Formats: sequence, C-alpha cells, structure tokens
Amino acid sequence: MYADVAFPIKLPPLTYKLPVVAPPDMEGRIVKAPLMGKSRYGLIVAVTDNPDFKGKDIKAVQDIRYHFVSGNGIKFLKWISDYYLAPIGIALKSGFFEEAVKSEVSGQYPAVGEKIKEKKYETFLFHAPSIHAEHAQLKEFLNSDVRGVIILAPEINEIERIAPDLKKIFGERLCVIHSKLTKAKRTDAVKKIISGESDIVIGTRSAVFAPLKNISLIAVLGEHSPSYKAEESPGYNARDAAVMRGFIEKACVLLSSVSPSIESVYNAKIGKYTTLNADSHPETKRPRIKIVGENRTKGKASTIAGEVLKEAKNTISKKGKFLFLINRKGYSLIRCEDCGHTVQCKKCGIPLVFYKAKNAVRCNYCGLEKNIPESCEECKGFAMKPAGTGTEKIKEEVEELLGTKTLLLEKERSLSPSPLPLAPDILPFVVGTTYAAKKLRDEKFDAAALFNIDQTLSQPDFRAYERTFQQVTQIAGTINPDGSLFLQTWNPKNRILRFIKNYDFHGFYDYELSQRKMLDYPPFSKIVLFNISYKKGINLSDDVRNMIEAEEIKGLEVLGPVEIPPILKSYPRCIQILLKSKDSRILHSYARRLLDKLEKIKDVKINADVDPLKV
Ligand SMILES: [Zn+2]
Ligand SMILES: [Zn+2]
Repeated sequence: MYADVAFPIKLPPLTYKLPVVAPPDMEGRIVKAPLMGKSRYGLIVAVTDNPDFKGKDIKAVQDIRYHFVSGNGIKFLKWISDYYLAPIGIALKSGFFEEAVKSEVSGQYPAVGEKIKEKKYETFLFHAPSIHAEHAQLKEFLNSDVRGVIILAPEINEIERIAPDLKKIFGERLCVIHSKLTKAKRTDAVKKIISGESDIVIGTRSAVFAPLKNISLIAVLGEHSPSYKAEESPGYNARDAAVMRGFIEKACVLLSSVSPSIESVYNAKIGKYTTLNADSHPETKRPRIKIVGENRTKGKASTIAGEVLKEAKNTISKKGKFLFLINRKGYSLIRCEDCGHTVQCKKCGIPLVFYKAKNAVRCNYCGLEKNIPESCEECKGFAMKPAGTGTEKIKEEVEELLGTKTLLLEKERSLSPSPLPLAPDILPFVVGTTYAAKKLRDEKFDAAALFNIDQTLSQPDFRAYERTFQQVTQIAGTINPDGSLFLQTWNPKNRILRFIKNYDFHGFYDYELSQRKMLDYPPFSKIVLFNISYKKGINLSDDVRNMIEAEEIKGLEVLGPVEIPPILKSYPRCIQILLKSKDSRILHSYARRLLDKLEKIKDVKINADVDPLKV
C-alpha cells in the first residue's frame, strides 16, 4: 500500500510506501517520512494501492503516529487548498499541524468520535438586534448535551467576554484558541482537542481548523467582520470556510451579526440559509442617528458642527461621556494653497499625514517619515498648509472649545486595562479612529459624533456602502439607547445615510443588491484578485497581457494588468489582475491555469486572493 503525504510547506502531497504491518486506518494520521534529505512530519491525506508514478524508488514512511484529523477533516483541508488556490501543505500549516506534532498525544485515539445521532447540515442566519441578543441566540444552540462545537468570534476581546459563561456550562471541555496565546498554550489546546478532552472550542478565525473529530455545531459571531479573512495564503474567509466545514461534517452552522453581510443576507433570501427571526427578542431601543451638515463657513470655522458642540456641552453638564470618531490618524494632511496639490508618498501614491507633535509628515502605509516640505513640489510655491482633519486635530478642537481634557484612542494597546479609565468628571471625551472603537464595546457613551463619513462612503470599493452601514451600526452599539449618534457629512441628502439614519436594513439590502446585480458584483459573481510583485527590469505587464490575450474564455471577465503601489518590501513593483465570472468553475479553472503559468516566471511573488474583501 502507498500513502500520499502532505507536509506543511508549499508542495503538493508526495507518495510513500506503507509498511506491511500498518494499521488499516492510515488516512488522517501523522507520520514521519524522508523529505529532501531530512526526516519530516507530514499528514497522510490518501491511501492507494496504485500510486500515480511507477518505476521510481518510492521511499517508506518511518514513524506512524496518531490520528490528527478525521476523513472529513481531510476533505475540509482539500477544499481549502482547492478553493483558495493554495497547496494543501499551506492549508495544513494554518490548521494547527505544527501544534499537533508537538503535542505528542500518547496512546491511540479513535479516528472518529462516537456517533451521537443522525446529523444534518443546515446554515442559519440570525440578524441580531443587539450583541446581547446575538449571545443569547448562541446560548440557545448550546446545551450541556451538545458535542463537538466550534465558536468563532472576530476579536479576542469578544472571546474573553463570552468564555467565562461557557466555562460555567462546559468546564474543562471548553478550550480557547487564538493568535495571542503563547505557542505552548496553543499546543496544549490542540492536544486537548486531539485527545478528546476538549470538544467545545472558541477562537478567532483559525479555530475553524480545530481538529475536532466530530462536529455538531459551528457558530460564527459577527459574521460580517473583515477579521475573518486571512491575509496570508491560504487567504480563507473563516465564515465561508465554516459553512463548508459544516456541510462536510453534516453539522449546524449559525451565522449571526447585528449587521450581516450582503452575501449572507442574499443566501438567506434565495433559501440557501434559514433565517432565524429576532421576534423572540424584545424590540431593541437604539440611539437616535442625526445627520449633520459640515461647517461650510470658510476660514477659522471649527470642524465640529454647532449642533454637535451643543450636545457635547450638554453631555459635560450632565457628567456624561461623549465619543468623537474620525477615520484618520494624525492632525491633518498638508496641501498647497496655491495649486491644491496634497503632499504624497512617492512610493505608495497616498497622502502623507501631518503629525503636529512631531512636526513631521508620515506615510501610514510604508512608514516613511520626513519634515514638512517647505515648498510645493508641483508649483514650487510656499503656501503649504494643513488641510483636512484627523484625530489629533479633533482632540485639539475639543480641548480648546470645551476647555476639557480628552483621551486619544488609536491603538489597541492604549486600551488596556479594560474597561477604560473613564471617570466621567475627569475624561468625558474620547477621540479615536473607528478601528480603535471596535474594541470599545464594553464601554457605553451618552453620545457620539462620527466625522469623515463621506470618505468611508466614497472609497473606491464596491463594498464601501456596506462597510459604512456596518461601521455605523457597530458604533451605535457603544451608545446608550436613549443617546444620539451624529454623522457629519457634506451631503446630508445621501441615500445611504438616509437608510442608516432609520436603521433601515431591509431598504438598504434591497438597494445594495439591486446595485450589485446591475454591476455584476458579488454575490452575483465571483472574484479572484491576483497581485504579482516583481523586481525592476522585467517587463512583466506586457508578458502577462500576452498570456491573458492568448486565451479568451466565455463567461469570464479579465481586468488588467494594471500597475499598483508595491505590496512587498523586496519587490519594488506590482501589477494586479482581476478575474470575474458568474460561474465559479470557469473562474477557478482559469485562475488555476493562470497561476501555473505565472509561477513559471522567475523572480516574482504571486498572491491569488479568492473572494477578496477589498476590490
Ligand atoms: Zn502648489
Ligand atoms: Zn509610503
């Protein structure tokens, strides 16, 4: 007998000879086998008596160890590899293989855990009126009899919030997995899962790979969250992977969110998912959303609109807490008053941000930092002035206009200890980026103002509206139900803002789906994005264009190649190709062929992103 062994590296599986006395259940076991002059651990992904290649001296596996994954687990790894265009070894690496090898489970564990009852695959979508309702719904799915559960949460702080409650129900059966754990702790968690000691796993996106042998439920909290998308190969989306794993394992999948993704809502509309009604939850009161026009007076006018300022003063007098949010770090940008040119990073092609305390401009993408240029590089004039607004400027304005101290919130680490040291009479105001505000869910504010929403709405990405809607919903969750959320905009009549103001999810979904349909964007099509990084000197654009033109496929749209700012430090140039099709099979087979061809080119680094989040 022979076995195909996958190693946690960028290689397809290799064939080895099995010893005559090998146990019958070899698939899913960890084995040691010779590879490139070394002995390495790998996973048996298939057993055959008829290997693909003959005549060659096939080496034998050396050390046969315990089962790491079940047959369904192998199916899942193969799907990840196939769908996300990555070798199975890379999928294995994401799937805790290293930890499994180190965990050295002693004794022999059964390939598949006990059969409980007839299981059936079904995915449920729950549009939760609040985070609280979302957690309550999860608990309804969990009783102490349930076996084999994976719970995914987008952020570690959310896990920390739920885990103590689950611990009360499940005790030692519960284990936590996320990237902030030490290697030793992660290995320990994997060991507990493989040995069957723990069968209730809660974690961030990688927990979708938890090597449970038998799964009855996978829950994905905050299913819309971009945190579920892995940036590195295999660039999987844990939400989609959870649905596929549930399908393979014949398990229930619960997707929930206070602002579900357009894709999931669509899947529920066409009957692929079952909608769970929020009726059993009492009507949730939400803070009022007020749309406020920007200050149009030129000159010394403050960024903060009068109405917002009034409410902030009111909040002070009541000893309440006010949150100011803006999606830009630093003080402002630097613009030439003569010609309108904005100082940019030459390498990245994006505006440099002015940091007042440092008296310097910085590229938030590549980290380049320099003095403010004295003259304009376009018109050579000397009228370089701060323009636009960032967190530092809002902080300055608040402190000036309201005569109070504020807390600036930009990074994750400025948030510990949690909850924030917010004694209302000392620090009634927090200024932060919306990114930082994600970590604020434990904190409740009396009111908040969001600036720069126009920038979020107008990002060149077909998901810009969806993301804005989700962002505002999430910020609203940090405000007391009888408080207010102000959105400052140049365009108060904007259609999307009107949906947002009324929390009109249905209106928004219908509108957004009609737009996506018209433009053939997901969920009405599938997309694969190629980023090809290369060294200077080769004329890659032309070569790739020829490659694309040589093969025209019906039902497939190829956009590009276009030059984009570099992504990798050691590769100064990068081109991008976007593939789009309504037929996933056409798209995948073409993408695979293109990837094969591109990988033959020397000195390039290719990143193929299936279902990219940013387009
Ligand atoms: Zn100029
Ligand atoms: Zn830069």
